[in-house]
Parts: sequence; C-alpha cells; structure tokens
Amino acid sequence: MASKMASCIFCKIIKGDIPCFKLFESDKTLAFLDINPLSRGHALVIPKFHGEKLTDIPDEDLTELLPVAKKLALATGAAEYNILQNNGAGAHQVVEHVHFHMIPKPNAQEGLGISWPQQ
Ligand code: IMP
Repeated sequence: MASKMASCIFCKIIKGDIPCFKLFESDKTLAFLDINPLSRGHALVIPKFHGEKLTDIPDEDLTELLPVAKKLALATGAAEYNILQNNGAGAHQVVEHVHFHMIPKPNAQEGLGISWPQQ
C-alpha cells in the first residue's frame, strides 16, 4: 500500500507535491478541477484515504464525497450534469485512487461565487 501511495498522482496532489486548482478541502476530502476537462468546471472529488476502488475505502471516508459533488454542481449553475465514478480498468478507471467526476453540461457554468478558469 505504501508504495502504491508513493506513486499515486492523486496522493501527490493531496500532499501538495503536484499543483491543482483546488475547489474544496477538509480533513477527509479534496476537490479540484480535472486537468483534461470534458466541460468547463469538470471537477474531481476524492477521499484523502488512498484506495483504488470504492470498496477499498472505509465508509467514514466516503460520507462527504457526494455532498461535495452536489455543492460543486450547484456552484456551476449547471442545470444538467453527470456525477460518475469508475472502478477498474475495464470500467474506464485510469487513476487508481477513488474519485468522483462532476461534469457539468456545457453553457451553464455561470457559477455562484467560484471564478472558473478558462479551460
Ligand atoms: P478516470 O478515467 O475515472 O480514472 O479519470 C481520471 C481523471 O483524472 C481524468 O479525467 C484525468 O483527466 C484526471 N487527471 C489525471 N491527472 C490529473 C491531475 O494531475 N490533475 C487533475 N486531474 C487529473
């Protein structure tokens, strides 16, 4: 586990070794903009606990993830959005650290207090 964490890109973002555009942080959760967005405001919400799949994460480290994704969806002002989470390469998971995508549909990101960068 320790070696997987050492090479995990999202663990490096949590530690601050790799920069991110941070949207939310608490002791258990981090949210930041996706580096390769499918739409403006595409965000990732991750537990700070390292685990590859949803089933690897203790329940207490999961509780904030959907409420934060919901807040970010509201903050974009998007009327339509996807929230999704992939588990395993066959399910299109590339980064092996649990993450929820919050993907607003285009043309609806006026924002409520968040200054979304151009992407
Ligand atoms: P997956 O296919 O569900 O694993 O999605 C991984 C997501 O992580 C992709 O949308 C990538 O663009 C995103 N990603 C990978 N590296 C970084 C990074 O360093 N910062 C922000 N997002 C990243």
